[in-house]
Amino acid sequence: MTINSFLARRVLTANPSATKAVTLKAKQLRDQGRDIITLSQGELDFDTPQPIREAARTAMDQGQTRYTEVAGSAELRQAVQHKFQSENGLNYSLDQIQVASGAKQILFNAFQATLNEGDEVLIPTPSWPSYPEMVRLASGEPRLLRCGENAGFKLTPEQLRAAINDNTKWLLLNNPANPSGALYTQSELRALGEVLQDYPQVWVIADEIYEHLRYDDQPFTSFAAAVPELSERTLTINGLSKAWAMTGWRVGYCAGPEPLIKALNLLQSQSTSHASSISQAAALSALKQPHTFITECVTELTRRRDLVVASIQQIPGLSCRVPQGAFYVFVNCQSLLGQVTAAGQTLDTDQDVALYLLEEADVAVVPGSAFDLPGYFRLSYGNALPQLEEAMRRISVACNNLVAGDNV
Ligand code: PMP
Repeated sequence: MTINSFLARRVLTANPSATKAVTLKAKQLRDQGRDIITLSQGELDFDTPQPIREAARTAMDQGQTRYTEVAGSAELRQAVQHKFQSENGLNYSLDQIQVASGAKQILFNAFQATLNEGDEVLIPTPSWPSYPEMVRLASGEPRLLRCGENAGFKLTPEQLRAAINDNTKWLLLNNPANPSGALYTQSELRALGEVLQDYPQVWVIADEIYEHLRYDDQPFTSFAAAVPELSERTLTINGLSKAWAMTGWRVGYCAGPEPLIKALNLLQSQSTSHASSISQAAALSALKQPHTFITECVTELTRRRDLVVASIQQIPGLSCRVPQGAFYVFVNCQSLLGQVTAAGQTLDTDQDVALYLLEEADVAVVPGSAFDLPGYFRLSYGNALPQLEEAMRRISVACNNLVAGDNV
């Protein structure tokens, strides 16, 4: 028996994380002694703030080492309830809130809990590559809706209306967005919401994990607050990973209609049981912290963003929009396609460009096709300024070393 006949079909057809694949290749090169700068990962280089780490230590010492409630400890859910109320103007009962092992786990469980074969999930792209894979793993059909640069990488109401059919179950809205850094305004959210009011079978997942990482004092409105008419069919997902530099702790949370949260709890009770009790204690502390850390993060990330954007604008063949949220720049590299490297290789695709930057500039970025938008690459500015400066210098040298191909 071959291993492939042993593995489940749904696993054989799923793709591994594209961003993790680039990061892995970068690591392999680094292990060979190469000085690779990794701008491919979705995390910040900051340490989790000290008081949060301390809260985890105290929890361990005080015996918070046992099972908690499936949905998360009541104290933590109260803190989440308070967060939604005070920051987003959303009112939920404790039974409408679930804590899980990361926003990713919630997304995974939400699809498992709701999708039957043939059910469609609308995913505006460029988007986080895990969304379509998670939908497929739940026997659903991802419907990728390309949102081009001219539309600010954002879904338009017309596009949404044209994509809905009888099988549509969810619209997945990631705001602010990975990888584009796009941020929807309240009126843009309302316009999308108005379309959905005509289609009562379509629910909304609002993935707002990057809520706090916004620039230039841009306001943020949670989808359920912008379109209260749809709150009975909106699942709002958020977490601690990005805003509090807590990616490894694996805590996310969500709120939505009680029957859906019940279904998520059922799945969680038969799989992970709940998020780690230690991580829950850390999350509780994070939700009670003043936002000084986040403000400092955003100030630092603004410097990094501005440096990266200014550098891109100087490099022939590259261009980008200024991201308004998250910590990625989605770089247009269409003008590089067709150009030829010093070794005589023509760069035909964004994958060729990413590979060229990895091999020639020792900089790891993720090709746009991984996010369903070829002709771009995503560069994360989670790294410190000196590293970013060096990375941009190397990318500039590599791009300047290209020569026009015959077909340019
Ligand atoms: N949603 C988006 C858009 C993300 O980029 C990520 C992390 N890369 C997640 C969710 C997952 O976050 P968590 O660490 O809470 O699972």
